[in-house]
Amino acid sequence: MAIDFSFPPEIEELRLKVRTFVDEVVRPAETRIAEREGDRRFLVDEIIKMRAEAYSRGLWLPHMPAEYGGMGLGHVAMASVSAEAARSSFGPFALNAQAPDEGNMHTLLHWGTEEQKKKYLVPLCKGVARSCFAMTEPEVAGSDPTLIQTRAVLEGDEWVINGHKWFISGAEGAKFAILIARTEDEPEVPQAGNSAFIVDLPSDGWEIVRDVHTMSGSHNHCEIRIANLRVPRDNMLGGRGDGHKLGQARLGPARLAHCMRWLGQAEMALDMMVDRSLNRFAHGSLLADKQGIQWMIADSAMELYQCKLMILHAAYKIDRGEDFRSEVSMAKHFVANSLGRIIDRAIQVHGALGYSTDTPLAKMAQQARWARFADGADEVHQWRIAQRTIDAYKKDGTTKAATGGLPL
Ligand SMILES: Cc1cc2nc3c(=O)[nH]c(=O)nc-3n(C[C@H](O)[C@H](O)[C@H](O)COP(=O)(O)OP(=O)(O)OC[C@H]3O[C@@H](n4cnc5c(N)ncnc54)[C@H](O)[C@@H]3O)c2cc1C
Repeated sequence: MAIDFSFPPEIEELRLKVRTFVDEVVRPAETRIAEREGDRRFLVDEIIKMRAEAYSRGLWLPHMPAEYGGMGLGHVAMASVSAEAARSSFGPFALNAQAPDEGNMHTLLHWGTEEQKKKYLVPLCKGVARSCFAMTEPEVAGSDPTLIQTRAVLEGDEWVINGHKWFISGAEGAKFAILIARTEDEPEVPQAGNSAFIVDLPSDGWEIVRDVHTMSGSHNHCEIRIANLRVPRDNMLGGRGDGHKLGQARLGPARLAHCMRWLGQAEMALDMMVDRSLNRFAHGSLLADKQGIQWMIADSAMELYQCKLMILHAAYKIDRGEDFRSEVSMAKHFVANSLGRIIDRAIQVHGALGYSTDTPLAKMAQQARWARFADGADEVHQWRIAQRTIDAYKKDGTTKAATGGLPL
């Protein structure tokens, strides 16, 4: 039997190392940072210390190959590392495996020329630069990149770009952006109208209008005005019309990387739910002894189990070079929704304490809300999953191939 749900000993050892690192270094730093909220200098110092400690413990850049100073982990191994790291919101950043840089590193590794890798990928890997990814626009549906209005026109050896973007994570302080803009007037297929560019930052013509304030506060998701921005011809990433392909190639693994981090958050919420139920007494017994609470715990445990299996299977398919689109879509949809439900149940079990900001649950609930529409809205994933399921039935007379292609 080839099916084996255990990790090789070295990956299990690594998972435990990340767990210890988060408990010993990251969570205490997170508490200190929360106590000095608004003190930017203190935040930066703490982050530098966390990163230095991660580096010295051999926990740096888990997703990149060794030639770039990384640990060379595949997606299955990354699932164990990311889920552990995400038990603190600073965990992925401490390992230099945070969004959007993680996705941008994969994109540059896959699509960049040697020159582009040297200039843009190497500093990201060393942790001396950050980046952002600029695709979404306020005027048109982000779910449909064929509607992108930002335009790039070739003038001599430069692309001149005009447009408007928003929700560009990490834009403030980024050393460069990967920008998606329309270059083709009559593409063969609508998906081939856009191209990708690397934009050095700051640049004339790239104006950060504001950090868009969200329901969970300001997190450097910026609105950008682009006016006569000039980008050297050689800064196109991939070829003309490859913008959509590049976005999709980036988003598949990046969506799964989100799922891995959400898993860590969902597990933390379930741990908190159970811990609270074992320590809160009402109406003659502990909450843990009450069936209404046990149902919430059971539902959450079952969902978390499904999340883990879906993530591992999708990661396994990516590692094997198989078509992973349906599995990543299903995982993205299911994990995003489970995350919201599990955190909400944890809040319920904590009562007023859960609604307060004395526990991380309130922040986690606000953060979890975007998971259902960013990087592919629920309904778009459902649409694609349904399409593939119907196609499988039409082709094979059974939907089997669309439900993970498993031997069951
Ligand atoms: C925290 C956060 C960080 C982000 N970071 C980045 C970033 O770094 N770079 C970047 O470029 N973008 C970023 N985004 C933007 C994100 O990718 C978009 O929000 C997403 O693509 C959806 O686009 P939209 O918001 O324009 O919603 P729309 O496309 O307008 O969709 C709105 C709703 O319409 C429905 N809908 C859409 N299409 C369909 C359909 N076919 N069938 C049925 N219903 C449908 C869905 O319910 C969807 O939620 C970020 C967003 C958030 C919230």
